[in-house]
Amino acid sequence: MHKALFLDRDGIVNIDKGYVYKWEDIIWIEEIFQMIKLANERGYKVIVLTNQSGIDRGMYTHEDVHTLHQKMHAFLAGKNLKVDDWFYCAEMDSELRKPRPGMLILARDKHDIDLTQSFMIGDKPSDVFETDGKFVGPSTLLVEGNYDLKDAHTKERVKVFKDHAKILEELKKVL
Ligand SMILES: [Mg+2]
Repeated sequence: MHKALFLDRDGIVNIDKGYVYKWEDIIWIEEIFQMIKLANERGYKVIVLTNQSGIDRGMYTHEDVHTLHQKMHAFLAGKNLKVDDWFYCAEMDSELRKPRPGMLILARDKHDIDLTQSFMIGDKPSDVFETDGKFVGPSTLLVEGNYDLKDAHTKERVKVFKDHAKILEELKKVL
């Protein structure tokens, strides 16, 4: 089995400007390059799990998201950084929508991931997967700044960090 570093996209990979779907609107978060490099070096799969309800809301299309993710993937590959897979959920009412664990389970099964040995990086309470005690999800590292995380502090296997640099520091220790 493999270990994985799961990444939320908006707020972790790129700045969350709200419903980002155009390449021109991608502003990379500086630390993401080192986070992916570290995961690559330490043998972790890197998998993006992102809610994209902008599709359901009619703001952009599946094609837009595919195109954007292809460009982001190629840009990272150009820096010798490997993302193994990109998953997104378009629907607001779906088992795949975070915090529901559908995307996590799809990724786990497709890539043969041991979730107990894996990490999720996010910026929102919904980046903590609801496993309802049925299975052990990844350890979750949340970054402060974008959303109210005060309830997330109390959850098991969740740690909250002041900024992306602090998460990178932690990843150097735990990956
Ligand atoms: Mg986010």
